[in-house]
Amino acid sequence: MKKTIQDIVDWHNKRVLVREDFNVPQDEHGNITNDTRIRETLPTLKYLVERGARVIVVSHLGRPKGKVDAKYSLAPIAERLKKLMAPTPVLYIDKVFSPEVQAAADTLKPGSILLLENVRFEPGEESNDRQFAQNLASLAEIYVNDAFGAAHRAHASTEGVAHFMPVKVAGLLMAKEIAALSSITVKPEKPYTAIIGGSKVSTKITVLEHLLDVVDNLVIGGGMLYTFLKAQGIDVGKSLVEDAHFETARQLLDKAAEKNVLIYLASDTVIADAFQAEANKKVVLVTDIPPDWMGLDIGPDSIEHIKQMIRNSKTVLWNGPLGVFEFPAFANGTRAVAEAIAEWTEAGFCKSILGGGDTVAAIEQLGISPERYTHVSTGGGASLEFLEGRSLPGITVLDNALAPAH
Ligand code: ADP
Ligand code: MG
Repeated sequence: MKKTIQDIVDWHNKRVLVREDFNVPQDEHGNITNDTRIRETLPTLKYLVERGARVIVVSHLGRPKGKVDAKYSLAPIAERLKKLMAPTPVLYIDKVFSPEVQAAADTLKPGSILLLENVRFEPGEESNDRQFAQNLASLAEIYVNDAFGAAHRAHASTEGVAHFMPVKVAGLLMAKEIAALSSITVKPEKPYTAIIGGSKVSTKITVLEHLLDVVDNLVIGGGMLYTFLKAQGIDVGKSLVEDAHFETARQLLDKAAEKNVLIYLASDTVIADAFQAEANKKVVLVTDIPPDWMGLDIGPDSIEHIKQMIRNSKTVLWNGPLGVFEFPAFANGTRAVAEAIAEWTEAGFCKSILGGGDTVAAIEQLGISPERYTHVSTGGGASLEFLEGRSLPGITVLDNALAPAH
């Protein structure tokens, strides 16, 4: 258990350095196409502002690789934050650390916000440079890490800086993510079904292995499915296959059997004659994929089976699209599973957690509200590493809460 901003009593006049994750998608003109990530930070920022803290906010945006690059400036974020936080004063400086920044931090009024430029404009950010971390630390006396999406990185603003701060706590978004993800890694309500899709076995194998210790049922879908099928001697034509992972796949199936975890691989699949939105398509049994075709989605029988599994569960974890949802013709499996989990959650029969960058993008593209699930994690890579049971440096470095006395 980590301390959160709610464990600190007196904020008045305190200088607080808050690390947020404002890494929002933008179009080619720099317009913000989705401000969910900014809106998710408002509870933390408002909490601090209302209590009279002097709030200095840092974030990264994109991958400018340690150099100033106008394309990744936080100026558009500052504009949006001003609107969302009005009437709170939001001051923006296009520098990460400079005498101007130091002066602004020193004279910042209680109850107002100072947003600095993209921390990744500094080469010391990603290298977790000690001096740069110290510079950041010199701006404030309390550190708040609210950037769950960046917590798996030991960078200067997510980890290094905390070593130079007397008080370091989690923000409300960070705390919400930790609580939700912990609830399914520690004592989830059973039966527990995990539905794991996405493109590759190689990026999900550690998660899959870890899940075998906690779940009752494990559905494997998406591109990974075909490596699992081929590993068992089934021809999958031109479907996505990672030859190097046949053994990994077989071992996982063996371990699942040992641990009494039911694995469900799709029974039918939607195949295409090309990797294209307009490709010809048909539904076949997974054992009947012709040599020149590829599986791009799960089929209707598999969808029904997975729906039944969801309806027999009290906890559902979903990570990874079940097909190439970017092509509407191959989005049915992803849509049906997203709907079924949402309905079961709304009916009060299960708790549902969604994670993964593309999974979140998929429900958005399909017009399914994240509000319909118990928790939709904002952290792509970070939520996966958390589910793998790894400790995330940006969390580890925060102060521990006192253990409850009993
Ligand atoms: P997440 O970001 O949610 O963890 P991944 O990054 O693992 O998910 O995978 C997402 C990608 O997997 C999507 O771009 C989707 O098109 C792809 N995918 C899903 N099913 C297939 C398939 N059958 N063949 C190829 N790619 C697939
Ligand atoms: Mg992804």
